[in-house]
Amino acid sequence: MHLVLLGPPAAGKGTQARRMTDQFGGVHIDTGDILRANAERGTDLGRKARTYMERGDLVPDEVVIDMVLERVGEPDCAAGFVLDGFPRTVPQAEALDRRLGALDRPLDATVGLEVEEAELRRRLAERAREQDRSDDDEQAVRQRLELFASETGPLLDYYRQQGLLVRVDAVGEVGDVTGRIAGALAAHTDRGDGP
Ligand code: AMP
Repeated sequence: MHLVLLGPPAAGKGTQARRMTDQFGGVHIDTGDILRANAERGTDLGRKARTYMERGDLVPDEVVIDMVLERVGEPDCAAGFVLDGFPRTVPQAEALDRRLGALDRPLDATVGLEVEEAELRRRLAERAREQDRSDDDEQAVRQRLELFASETGPLLDYYRQQGLLVRVDAVGEVGDVTGRIAGALAAHTDRGDGP
């Protein structure tokens, strides 16, 4: 399946994306991880992305879009992928649609993970203690939550209008959330909205 996983920071996108590719096959494409790896290696891409990431800002569309559109065209993505962290803006979603249309690999669904803000703040504080991520400090966290609401939130409507949005309550045991995602995707497919 060709899937997008949407959700605010600390909704569990990375964990669930890995479990989904284990279950359904396909490639896990985590844009945050790709950007962090580039920043650590000091590549051109990493240098362009670093300051935005440290502030909790979005890396400019033109940098991220090229990176992802190239990746989804690679042969290992033909059988399926879970995009984790992309798209985050409407122009990114539009560019992805055009690219997938040209590749004849349309999206099957977009899974929207839902977690209330108090729980997100609790998880982000815990992650800051455990993982030492520079974008988990208080100011960057506030910025990332605001950007999710203003830039990524409109994508929920964008995909709802296309009949692709599958909403899932992402609070609870990790395995339970994965089960809800699988159930919601099966229901989406059965309704004939999916592949
Ligand atoms: P994440 O690990 O998904 O929380 O991403 C970490 C950071 O990488 C974000 O706060 C952004 O600075 C950057 N980033 C990841 N994906 C994107 C994207 N699709 N568009 C813009 N910036 C992104």
